[in-house]
Amino acid sequence: MILDCAIIGGGPAGLTAGLYTTRGGLENVVMFEKGMPGGQITQSSEIENYPGATGEITGMELMEPWPKQCQRFGLKHEMVEVTRVRKDGDLFKIHKGDGTVTDAHSVIIATGSSPRRADFAGEDEFFGKGVSTCATCDGFFYKGKEVAVIGGGDTALEEALYLAKICSKVYLIHRRDTFRASPNTVKRVEKSEKIELVLNSTPDEVYGDKMGVTGIRVKNKDGELRDIEVPGVFTFVGNDVNNQTLKQEDGSFLCDMNDKGEVIVDISMNTSVKGLFAAGDMRIAAPKQVVSAAGDGAVAALQAISFVDEKLG
Ligand code: FAD
Ligand code: NAP
Repeated sequence: MILDCAIIGGGPAGLTAGLYTTRGGLENVVMFEKGMPGGQITQSSEIENYPGATGEITGMELMEPWPKQCQRFGLKHEMVEVTRVRKDGDLFKIHKGDGTVTDAHSVIIATGSSPRRADFAGEDEFFGKGVSTCATCDGFFYKGKEVAVIGGGDTALEEALYLAKICSKVYLIHRRDTFRASPNTVKRVEKSEKIELVLNSTPDEVYGDKMGVTGIRVKNKDGELRDIEVPGVFTFVGNDVNNQTLKQEDGSFLCDMNDKGEVIVDISMNTSVKGLFAAGDMRIAAPKQVVSAAGDGAVAALQAISFVDEKLG
């Protein structure tokens, strides 16, 4: 069977694309998601800027009803990793981790982004043994203990606030003395008695023993070193776009990308390849918000419907 539309990725962008394609009349639509649907926001301890989410709500709680809503209109979900998307004549070939290939008339790619490594000594060695990129997953292990958070963006500050509720103290290590995070979040961090700001400082090394991390050494802008004894270090230093599925056998990309590896789209989420649409965090100039990822998914879906209608008459 040839799919009308293959959706790659089941975060806010992919799920919204699934809702709009199926509800808009496309019959054979499959969303390929390698894990549980919901995307990276399910790692967030709190979301307060999604319209309508007026109470205290976690990312997991926000996303929980989305797959169910899509299924009502016929979206199918295959839990599998897509390894490559390529074009063969006027069809797309979706290569999957289990070795099978699915054909599709159109593709919406919405594979989002993943946490970046900060690149300091000990980061890889102690990853999963005290170094983490997910406070909601691992914060509880440090209940009543001191932890360090690295980064100065929205994620680092929001997660530092979350950890401050569980841990006895949070050292927030940032390489500058001003933050990228929204002013409201910065104010909350500055007010927190449990958060110590360690500014103009970069991690030099995370160290530990067989049991895991025991501390982090930071270097300030004058070159002075400081040891902070903590069993947990959380890094939130931005994300890299998940674009591997668009890589072809010869190393080129299926469609045009910018130098950051983001997919170039127009205002309607069209890529440089007809019938291939990109949505969410992985496209150029993405605001990296749930609401905009969902909006992209809807726009891409409407385009995919027109494309398939025109193609199949
Ligand atoms: P993602 O959410 O990244 O989803 C992509 C999906 O694709 C994932 O489920 C992944 O498993 C899947 N996937 C990737 N590769 C493959 C493959 N090869 N095959 C199959 N599946 C694949 N935004 C806000 O608006 N408000 C907030 O308060 C907020 N807080 C955040 C807190 C944290 C800790 C983080 C990490 C992000 C936060 N964001 C917030 C940003 C928001 O989560 C993202 O902008 C949004 O999730 C992007 O949606 P997406 O669908 O484009 O991608
Ligand atoms: P980000 O905004 O890119 O911030 C990354 C932070 O890490 C920056 O402060 C950066 O320092 C620092 N950094 C980068 N590399 C580093 C390194 N090697 N060592 C030490 N520090 C390093 O990433 P983010 O906070 O994950 O946010 C990503 C996007 O999602 C943003 O657009 C953000 O607005 C959005 N988001 C929104 C919300 C929300 O709306 N509530 C919540 C979370 C995320 P510099 O500042 O010096 O560059």
